[in-house]
Amino acid sequence: MHVPPLTNLTAADPKIAELIQQEAERQHDKLRMIASENYVSPAVLEATGSVLTNKYSEGYARKRYYEGQQLIDPIEELTIDRAKSLFGVEHANVQPYSGSPANLAVYMAFARPGDTILGLGLPMGGHLTHGWKVSATGAWFNAVHYSVRKEDGLIDFDEVRDLAREHRPKIIFCGGTAIPRTIDFPRFAEIAKEVGSVLVADIAHIAGLVAGGAHPSPVGYADVITTTTHKTLRGPRGAMILSTGEHAKAIDKAVFPGLQGGPHNHTTAAIAVALREAAEPSFRDYAAQIVKNSRALAAALVDKGFDLVTGGSDNHLLLIDLTSKGIGGKPAAQALDRAGIELNFNTVPYDTRKPFDPSGLRLGTAGITTRGLTEEHMPQVAAWFSDSVDALVKDDEPAQSRIAGEVSDLLANFPMPGWSRV
Ligand SMILES: *Cc1c(COP(=O)(O)O)cnc(C)c1O
Repeated sequence: MHVPPLTNLTAADPKIAELIQQEAERQHDKLRMIASENYVSPAVLEATGSVLTNKYSEGYARKRYYEGQQLIDPIEELTIDRAKSLFGVEHANVQPYSGSPANLAVYMAFARPGDTILGLGLPMGGHLTHGWKVSATGAWFNAVHYSVRKEDGLIDFDEVRDLAREHRPKIIFCGGTAIPRTIDFPRFAEIAKEVGSVLVADIAHIAGLVAGGAHPSPVGYADVITTTTHKTLRGPRGAMILSTGEHAKAIDKAVFPGLQGGPHNHTTAAIAVALREAAEPSFRDYAAQIVKNSRALAAALVDKGFDLVTGGSDNHLLLIDLTSKGIGGKPAAQALDRAGIELNFNTVPYDTRKPFDPSGLRLGTAGITTRGLTEEHMPQVAAWFSDSVDALVKDDEPAQSRIAGEVSDLLANFPMPGWSRV
């Protein structure tokens, strides 16, 4: 049963209610290892599903364009206060609809179309919104990209410095979607300072680790920090822009009226709930456990003969290069999904295959850590992983369903926030 229960929805729209129930059960029964996903608490779900969705409140607290903000203002102000205190920043904007609009707001604040920006290339682990050509950010801005080194998969800081000196970008982005190692914010800050660029740390993936002290904070190094709220931070789908007081005005103007209309108040309240949860001492344990699990899983996968980009993981994320196994990422991801292990195919740096059929798999430990799995379970996870890939090579389809059964048997002992079998 969904928690909170879907009583009214079941009566009003049984079809949608049933599909949601089935999705909840699917989330319960699988090892959910998509690196950007997690399970939010029932408290976050309740805030997300509240009457706050009914309210329009364009503007900011005490400066709104609609009446009736007596309770919306304190909700947004509380959310901002919690964000500022959790991350230790001077300013927080909690209105961006999601990570991509948050990044677009940063362009709006600090650059004009045609200006040069510098970011990690998408195939190297960057994000589309860091100027990749198919994104508006790549179409409207002159984006230059740095890489990771071929030999060790780590950011090539010599290249970052050379490109920054040559192109003098308005904005330098650091962070990405497939970076398994600690991001060296001080080094980026040094380069950005030398060339006079605004340094933006996009911590969408690692925000929960930063909040929980399991990854160094960009505060004091990055001028601006963008983040989603739904990945390791374990909140609703949304985003925040954090900054020094100096940039507060420019960022607020860029989000509204620059880019968005009314904020999603139900999301804002749910972000507040998630930030409160992330300020609990237990969240520090959670963040530390994510990393312990990721390291243990990396070691167990290497034991099973898998090649990891950079050789391991310092955060929640692992990137596997399947080249030596002679199979593509896409068929492997599909086989693993049939075996109850959910992840995504991904390009690896210097991939020789096509983006829609690349050589890699990306996975993360945030979701399974929320379920309560620890290091001791990681050898078993790696064994299932390896068995499923072997079964794919041998075309042994019954093995995939056998593994899926074993996975769901294990997970029956680890409650899922948001759903229970009875
Ligand atoms: C997930 C992600 C985003 C985009 O977030 P959406 O909410 O999907 O728009 C931006 N930057 C990075 C680094 C991300 O990982």
